[in-house]
Amino acid sequence: MRDAVIVGAGLAGLSAAWRLRHWDTLVLESGDRVGGRIRSEKRGPYFLNWGGHVFAGADTSTASLLAETGVSSVRVPGSLKGVAMNGKLLLNGRIETYPARIPMSTAARLALVRTGAKVGLDVLRYARAVALRPGETSGARQQRIYDFENDRSFADYVGDLPDDTEALFRPTVTRSAADPHELSAGAGIGYFSLVWNIGQGLDRSIVGGPSVLTESVAASVRDRIRLGASVQEIVHRRGSVVVRYTQDGADHEVEARTVVLATPAPVSHRVGVDLPADVREALSKIVYGPYVSAAFLTNETARRPWDDAYGIATPKRSFNVVLNMANVARGAETHRRPGGSLMTFSPAGLARTLIDRSDDEILDVYTRDLDRVLPGSADAIAEAHVQRWHTGAPFCFPGRGRLQPVLTRPAERVFLAGDYLGTLYTETAISSGFTAASDAAGVLATERQIRPRIHDVPVAPGAATS
Ligand SMILES: Cc1cc2nc3c(=O)[nH]c(=O)nc-3n(C[C@H](O)[C@H](O)[C@H](O)COP(=O)(O)OP(=O)(O)OC[C@H]3O[C@@H](n4cnc5c(N)ncnc54)[C@H](O)[C@@H]3O)c2cc1C
Repeated sequence: MRDAVIVGAGLAGLSAAWRLRHWDTLVLESGDRVGGRIRSEKRGPYFLNWGGHVFAGADTSTASLLAETGVSSVRVPGSLKGVAMNGKLLLNGRIETYPARIPMSTAARLALVRTGAKVGLDVLRYARAVALRPGETSGARQQRIYDFENDRSFADYVGDLPDDTEALFRPTVTRSAADPHELSAGAGIGYFSLVWNIGQGLDRSIVGGPSVLTESVAASVRDRIRLGASVQEIVHRRGSVVVRYTQDGADHEVEARTVVLATPAPVSHRVGVDLPADVREALSKIVYGPYVSAAFLTNETARRPWDDAYGIATPKRSFNVVLNMANVARGAETHRRPGGSLMTFSPAGLARTLIDRSDDEILDVYTRDLDRVLPGSADAIAEAHVQRWHTGAPFCFPGRGRLQPVLTRPAERVFLAGDYLGTLYTETAISSGFTAASDAAGVLATERQIRPRIHDVPVAPGAATS
């Protein structure tokens, strides 16, 4: 019997595997690589990226994992506040000046100023409401974040807006993978807080690309990871848990004292057949939105106007943001190296219109839009690849806060982990993996203390031993 089986080798599962590495563990991953929604590939001084890209900074679980595994991160040097809309590319300046600088009708401009002021005030209110209070647990704080303006959608909160005004708000809100009518008002406000207050949320890049982190963790437990192992069912027995999975067309079974279930909520709901009914119900209510993303390696030889920008929102395009993945490498440059790396991504409704199209069709649409947003970029594309994410990200919908107490209730042997347990994506994945590992280690340590007493009973002379 194994001490722990970890199901899923995304960031949550790998974080749990890392913290449980001194126990007898097995990691079962259905895909043909580790990392889940983290995926990057090195290309010379740059990396291509398709998934999570900015990570949490000091005093977080992410910082602990990086320090423990010796993986480096740097603060993203460029701004996340670029905007390309109605033929104008704004890469710097104060965000309050944007309404005057983007071409649009007077009515749209006035609505933008009015709604911008309303959201701005609520971002301050949000920052006060979600700040960690003395003596408070991170769980209590997380509950408050979920509960902030959790009774209506972001679309209801802003009301009807002129098209250009709505278009300008949309890219920030939809990065959550939800459209404005799906996302809670509080989560939408939280997104503006994340983007406007870069430095307080997710603002660090992994040196060499995000997969350096997941592959480094995986390397430390390499011999215990089974790829292509798709878990079908997890069943409790008295004092253990049985995990049934398929690999290479054959059925397998492994028994463990504990399980860390680090799959997306719909999978956890499906395979956790005898989890408590209210936990299964809560898992079934978690909603994910889709993403389509693409990575572009470019071969320009001279400086680009957007070299100093990291994120550029792109309202009214097939993707809602362009991310300049080379920006991080630029920060350490003494002279402008040739080439670059861009990422585009389309969440929610934008993803739904693309996800069933062929790669060539998606790249065609993306390349045309990329060239409109960053003129001249299409001619410099040396390599381009698409990725579809059907469960792109779990989002906070109105009422989501009510599920949290059930999902985070102490468990006996099967511990949940994954980004759906909180609101900070990679940071939530890592911290929930750590928590699940610590809960599992608690069970293992307690049982280890009990077990030797049973085995320590002296063996009678002549009795058979095994
Ligand atoms: C395009 C995009 C951009 C993003 N940008 C950011 C960002 O900038 N910052 C940020 O913090 N977050 C970002 N995120 C979100 C971030 O990537 C995720 O929150 C995080 O990687 C989730 O990790 P996880 O381990 O919870 O889930 P996952 O990465 O989904 O891992 C779950 C694993 O379980 C495996 N699995 C599924 N079913 C089974 C089964 N039956 N048996 C065995 N294994 C199974 C899957 O293959 C997967 O490897 C982004 C995501 C996307 C898609």
